[in-house]
Amino acid sequence: DRIIAPAATREDDLAEASIRPRVLDEYLGQQPVREQMKIYIEAAKGRGEALDHVLIFGPPGLGKTTLSHVIANELGVNLRVTSGPVIEKAGDLAALLTNLQPHDVLFVDEIHRLSPVVEEVLYPAMEDFQIDIMIGEGPAARSIKLDLPPFTLIGATTRAGLLTAPLRDRFGIVQRLQFYSAEELTRIVRRSAQILGIECEPDGASEIARRSRGTPRIANRLLRRVRDFAQVRAGGRIDRATADGAMAMLKVDPEGFDELDRRLLSTIIESFNGGPVGVESLAAALSEERGTLEDVIEPFLIQQGYLVRTARGRAATPKAYRHMGLEPVGRDAS
Ligand code: ADP
Repeated sequence: DRIIAPAATREDDLAEASIRPRVLDEYLGQQPVREQMKIYIEAAKGRGEALDHVLIFGPPGLGKTTLSHVIANELGVNLRVTSGPVIEKAGDLAALLTNLQPHDVLFVDEIHRLSPVVEEVLYPAMEDFQIDIMIGEGPAARSIKLDLPPFTLIGATTRAGLLTAPLRDRFGIVQRLQFYSAEELTRIVRRSAQILGIECEPDGASEIARRSRGTPRIANRLLRRVRDFAQVRAGGRIDRATADGAMAMLKVDPEGFDELDRRLLSTIIESFNGGPVGVESLAAALSEERGTLEDVIEPFLIQQGYLVRTARGRAATPKAYRHMGLEPVGRDAS
């Protein structure tokens, strides 16, 4: 229900269909990733080979799925999309792999959630384009080797540490997506507004961008909500004042923080004396899951310098105290 939640909602999926970048030139920001991928794609095409397997790390909403669409488009091949938890049995994976055309891309979102059995099947598939599958049961069971067409696996995951080492080692290309700068997000908002036929002034776009937590999915979602507000209150035109008004209504503050972020910071400051506090205790105090805290809330707060992760837990920085309208106290008050 969080307006700034980085995970995709159904509304996002429907609305994003028209604005999702299709080629590398439309994929804004992430410059090093874009430049490298351009070269790798061109080289693979030049050699007439499948692109090496690609692993993409990054918090939700930064463009992992989009990048895999873009890669398949640029290669001129089909993209099959699935996710770790969906592939329950080795046979599910075998069915996916044997249906690929040569050089196709298989995108596995949340690849860290593959079961160990399925992962085992994936290793030879990635390395030698071969799989061993069991036919039949009991004493009559036998294993047969199947050749696969050369393909590219693109795996996506939110955190590097979630992957097993043998799986990680089998990816030739590893890309880490970064949070987007306000300027990059401004360009993304302006592009989306143009495609959706929304009248958006540059200062309106940058106001939306500034509050989007470095995340394109959030920027696009806020744009849609601000559009509603502008339509009813401002004749449909988005400028800074309309964006401001809409954000106040949505309770998204100038840093892009919502209630939950502020609750997290105030809990650390007030209930845990500024920290450090262990992630489990913090999750319990906030009634949130530990995973939500680590994947969804923390990364942006850490990147922006409001929170630090120490060996003994999370601690609020002086910047966090000031944001909450408090004087930094104690040992961190430098
Ligand atoms: P993830 O898979 O990392 O959760 P997505 O690829 O679904 O994120 O991206 C969310 C949305 O943000 C996309 O639908 C797309 O419209 C937008 N987006 C992502 N990356 C970019 C980019 N580099 N340039 C423009 N828009 C982007």
